[in-house]
Amino acid sequence: MNDSPVELACYVAGIKVTSSKTLVVRSPYDAAVAGVVGLAGREQTELAIQSALRSRESLNRFERSSILERARQRLEERREEFARLITSESGLCLRETRYEVGRALDVLRFATMEALRDDGEIFSCDISPQGKARKIFTFREPLSCVVAITPFNHPLNQVAHKVAPAIAAGSPMILKPSEKTPLTALRFAELLYDAGLPGPMLSVLLGPTAEVAEPLVRDSRVELVTFTGSVAVGKRIAETAGYKRLVLELGGNDPLIVLADADLDLAVHLAAEGSYRNSGQRCTAVKRILVQENVADEFAQRLAKKTEGYPCGNPMDEATRVGTVIDEPAAIYLETVLQEALAAGAKLLIGGERKGALFEPTVIQNVPRNVRMVTCESFGPLAPIINVKDLDDAITVANSTPYGLSSGVVTNSLDEAIKAVKQLRCGTVNVNEVPGYRIESSPFGGIKESGLGIKEGVVEAIKSMTTVKTFSLPW
Ligand code: NAP
Repeated sequence: MNDSPVELACYVAGIKVTSSKTLVVRSPYDAAVAGVVGLAGREQTELAIQSALRSRESLNRFERSSILERARQRLEERREEFARLITSESGLCLRETRYEVGRALDVLRFATMEALRDDGEIFSCDISPQGKARKIFTFREPLSCVVAITPFNHPLNQVAHKVAPAIAAGSPMILKPSEKTPLTALRFAELLYDAGLPGPMLSVLLGPTAEVAEPLVRDSRVELVTFTGSVAVGKRIAETAGYKRLVLELGGNDPLIVLADADLDLAVHLAAEGSYRNSGQRCTAVKRILVQENVADEFAQRLAKKTEGYPCGNPMDEATRVGTVIDEPAAIYLETVLQEALAAGAKLLIGGERKGALFEPTVIQNVPRNVRMVTCESFGPLAPIINVKDLDDAITVANSTPYGLSSGVVTNSLDEAIKAVKQLRCGTVNVNEVPGYRIESSPFGGIKESGLGIKEGVVEAIKSMTTVKTFSLPW
């Protein structure tokens, strides 16, 4: 890595925390120091909660929207710096991290617009025999203290998806980013303060789980915990949070279903992009490719050929399309589930080599339905192909795991597409697109073990960070 390490600190209500305890963040590619972060502890956690609750920043809609717009402009000016910072701490290649910054710009753009939108409704009451000459009005009030906990795989965009809606809603937030990729989150917080965000509207804390994350989750003064991450941690949060609102965006095991009538070029393109983008570390990455058996061989050969166009290597290299996964143990896990699948009868067509945290894009054919690679979430650039008889069979396989985040179906038949939309048990069905397709303001989120069905996306996140109040007047 060729960028110099950054030195950053946590923030309580916009004030830098000085600390002797530090976290050194290293590149997963070559262990170069990407940055050093001063950590917080229990005392700062308590102070952050108190400052959020004391915060009486009654910014009006125009002020909130203006802060978000200024933040977007500043991020636009610093696009490359942020992309390189994400790459230095995550090992994601520059092609991906530049894309991620573009997505975060969209989050800010849409939140800027949503901050201005009126969120009230009016109900006339004289509409039934029981009615009266009154009107009921609704409006949304911000929550007084929101805790956001984010994962490593999109160090900027996951954070933007929590913080920007909170600013638009006017809800003070305490952010606990991933310890694996904290640098981008802290830089982004600085950018927001710089854009005029009052300190009490945002604290950013990193530190031991028992001193920061867990006390935040348990605290009864916190009104909402919005969490994105693994099923295991999500369930632990659900057990310990007590009586408070929860938004849980958890893991996925998304299928891409390819039917015999599909445009195979499109199907191969979607399978490769869905499996390999972001080093395969997207909650909505393609994690199982369910191909109708009479086209499965041809599809597999074409996907293997396509995979040659995804060079894996130094994430800072412009030619690289797949950087590292988050660390070496994550790459070793991929190697292990690959060996298990091969031992169970699957065939390796291309890839499969690991070097440190680098794992090559890998196509595996004839994958049995019961191996760990496809029953559990594999967070890496694996493209496991499972043969299916027809759409009914594909839907049975697709619905057979505990996850229910998203899905993609490649077909030219409207009837089959509609059947898939109706019968797949998950939060999203994208026809002739990857499961991960969305825009930053559309509703997003899963069911079953992928989440509680409460959506995110800028519009829905603002709703989750506010409560509806009604009042009525004689009219
Ligand atoms: P993770 O291990 O669950 O960690 C996520 C966050 O939770 C981190 O900030 C982590 O902090 C924190 N955490 C750990 N233990 C905690 C506890 N006891 N209480 C409260 N917080 C705790 O997930 P990850 O490995 O970073 O991310 C990958 C996972 O996220 C995958 O399963 C992926 O599918 C999922 N994901 C889901 C979505 C979605 O929208 N559905 C989007 C992206 C990713 P530390 O870093 O300090 O451990």
